[in-house]
Amino acid sequence: MDFQVIVVGAGPVGLLLAGLLRRGDVDVVVLEHLAEATGESRASQLNARTMEVLDQGGLLGRLGRMDSVDTGHFGGIPVPAGGVASRFPGFWKMPQFDLEAALTEWVTELGADVRRRHTVQALTDTGERVRVEVDTPGGPVTLHAAWVIGCDGQDSTVRDLAGIAFPGQAAERELLRADVDDIAIADRHFERHENGLAIAHRRSDGVTRVMFHEFGRPPVERTGPPSFDEIVDGWRRVTSEDIGAGRPLWTDAFDDASRQARQYRRGRVLLAGDAAHRQIPAAGQALNLGLQDADNLGWKLTAVVRGEAGDELLDTYHTERHSVGADVMDNVRAQTLLLLGGEETDSLRTVIGEIATLPEGQDQLAAVISGLDVRYSDSSDAKTARATSHPLVGMRLPDIEVPTTRGLVSGIDVLRRGHGLLLDLAGAVPPDRIRGWAERVEHVAAAGRVDALGPELASVLVRPDGHVAWISLIDDVAAGLEEALRRWFGRHRDELTTITGVATRSAPAEKGIYMGTLEGKSALVTGSSRGIGRAIAERLGREGALVVVHYSSDADAADQAVKSIVSAGGRAFAVQAEFGVADDVNTLHRKLEAGLREQHGSVSLDILVNNAGIMGSVNPEDITPEQFDRLVAVNAKAPLFLVQRLLPLIPEGGRIVNISSGLTRFANPSEIAYAMTKGAIEQVTLHYARHLGPRNITVNSVGPGVTKNGNPVFDVPEAREQIAQLSAFSRIGEPADVGDIVAFVCSPDARWMTGTFVDASGGALLG
Ligand SMILES: Cc1cc2nc3c(=O)[nH]c(=O)nc-3n(C[C@H](O)[C@H](O)[C@H](O)COP(=O)(O)OP(=O)(O)OC[C@H]3O[C@@H](n4cnc5c(N)ncnc54)[C@H](O)[C@@H]3O)c2cc1C
Repeated sequence: MDFQVIVVGAGPVGLLLAGLLRRGDVDVVVLEHLAEATGESRASQLNARTMEVLDQGGLLGRLGRMDSVDTGHFGGIPVPAGGVASRFPGFWKMPQFDLEAALTEWVTELGADVRRRHTVQALTDTGERVRVEVDTPGGPVTLHAAWVIGCDGQDSTVRDLAGIAFPGQAAERELLRADVDDIAIADRHFERHENGLAIAHRRSDGVTRVMFHEFGRPPVERTGPPSFDEIVDGWRRVTSEDIGAGRPLWTDAFDDASRQARQYRRGRVLLAGDAAHRQIPAAGQALNLGLQDADNLGWKLTAVVRGEAGDELLDTYHTERHSVGADVMDNVRAQTLLLLGGEETDSLRTVIGEIATLPEGQDQLAAVISGLDVRYSDSSDAKTARATSHPLVGMRLPDIEVPTTRGLVSGIDVLRRGHGLLLDLAGAVPPDRIRGWAERVEHVAAAGRVDALGPELASVLVRPDGHVAWISLIDDVAAGLEEALRRWFGRHRDELTTITGVATRSAPAEKGIYMGTLEGKSALVTGSSRGIGRAIAERLGREGALVVVHYSSDADAADQAVKSIVSAGGRAFAVQAEFGVADDVNTLHRKLEAGLREQHGSVSLDILVNNAGIMGSVNPEDITPEQFDRLVAVNAKAPLFLVQRLLPLIPEGGRIVNISSGLTRFANPSEIAYAMTKGAIEQVTLHYARHLGPRNITVNSVGPGVTKNGNPVFDVPEAREQIAQLSAFSRIGEPADVGDIVAFVCSPDARWMTGTFVDASGGALLG
């Protein structure tokens, strides 16, 4: 069996990586040795940078309520970190098993294949692909993949099989710990005693975690966790306290061995998380470092698998993350000395403790333990010397808002869509300079000059992981932009056409269900619980888009539409919002965003089909102002403001389709008011098409003729015969006839049409 990527290990790092790859539509399988997650508490806190990463992935909503504390520690020395420049300052409490459960749910919804009781035994990198031998409950199997990522923890089999060295320092010290119920002892915060260090913390569920180290005691060779007796004896030696009457729930020992894989990439095999670096989990940095590896690798591997970028992009994963790992291991070793060193380290502790009271010292240590000090020194274009030396290059994009013609736009919010970002701070980068990367990089042009990042800056190119790849200065707004785009985002769109065949996912083609032109896209079809709207939704679903079925009142019909899309192999969910009432558009926007964040992992909306509408069926003599107002409110006003409200979610290359009517081309007096509203929506098309051209968003109208819509008139043979004659094909249109045309207008092939009226009436106008 062939996959684009095999991830080995369903720990937190493997799961996050698999989810990030699935967001980019990569065909990924996760192989995990364990039948189920360990349920061990292990790591228990996330730092500010990890919280940012999870936020960008649209994951925070899944983690539920989290408590945070402002003060962390560096080797036991308290460090206030509540003031760091992040949306998530401080340290966030989250047991590792809860994080793993949320990640598992997320990747499963995204369609990643997680196979438990699958143990990797051997692998061979042929240069073209990797052959992986796996033990499964059904016996040994052989799988193949273009890339294999070892996220299989500190004793990584993948690392060994790939022949990647793991040099470093052997363990010199050991900590023992236990979760104990039914004891009542005081909390101890890094308490130094004559014989050792003791920590105790009673959790809200009444369980107390105790942890201690005995100064000068070397690590014990172990084949399993320590016994509770060993913990009780050690705790007594350090604290003189007896916890022997307690009930042990979990015991564990860990040491201060410190090792790092020499290469994070070897050929088609890469490592992330504990497989790449082993360190004592001081201040929770082990888990956080691993999750941030996955964040760095996810978008790069996606670009390579999709054929957009060459595999040299993956070498930057090694360069960047190996260097960050080495820094973290350095600071962890320093912390270990401060924490676990005996009397010989007292003076060191005093000196560092004093530095930690100075504002600069505090800021530095807070940035280090929050994961916010990372600067990728390789993130610049070496040929542009001034840009290379700019302090912003390689750093995370600061949290700024840019005034645009669409209102205030936050750079960080745009990054949630999983793309790169060109922040055009002077609004001066010509759109055609970036058009070749429009599907991968969003261009946010300021309406006026923005100085927030420095008066000298003209524009900032940001990678999907939020790190600044390139900047330009005001005297030359786009110098080196193309080189930076090529380096970080891959080839120009025109050079991709011959490669897309290679990059297409294999699974849908095998199923024979999708044509897949809209794989990875999301689409909202208003009024799609039945009729033409439902046919459009079903067709977009078959093309691979995640479809949002909007309805006004018939929840059962919407449910049927969703089920029909899902049973055809697609993905869909329904949202309810009534049009023509106060706050209609805001209600839909709110529910849409929540649904997209949950189901799509981002709030990006690639396709908007304004289909919802009501008919008039009132003669010109009888139409009342109230009836007219209602028709206008639902058919014209709601779509106009829906486009306005949803535009911040629609990326470059997006599609807007307004369903008009053949009645704007031929007369039917009993629909005079309805036809007026359809004429109005064609104006929305025309003017927005011009307005959104620079963002490469197309806007078109599709005009159905007489189409079967459940009206009883279509059950009368004579009426049917007569109506059929209106079409050049002598038949009545089916909703799917219109759905297919709309799918084309939404497809990449329709990129060169905008502002048009597309007739979908089966030649009803031909006479
Ligand atoms: C006992 C213990 C206590 C810890 N306590 C803390 C703490 O207090 N604070 C902190 O920050 N960090 C702590 N850590 C570290 C933290 O748990 C890790 O940093 C984190 O789990 C790393 O995630 P990972 O996904 O890289 O690896 P892991 O979570 O180790 O996941 C690796 C997965 O790969 C699977 N696997 C291994 N080999 C194979 C194979 N051949 N085939 C298929 N699957 C395989 C394993 O079953 C496992 O599920 C602790 C770790 C341990 C082991």
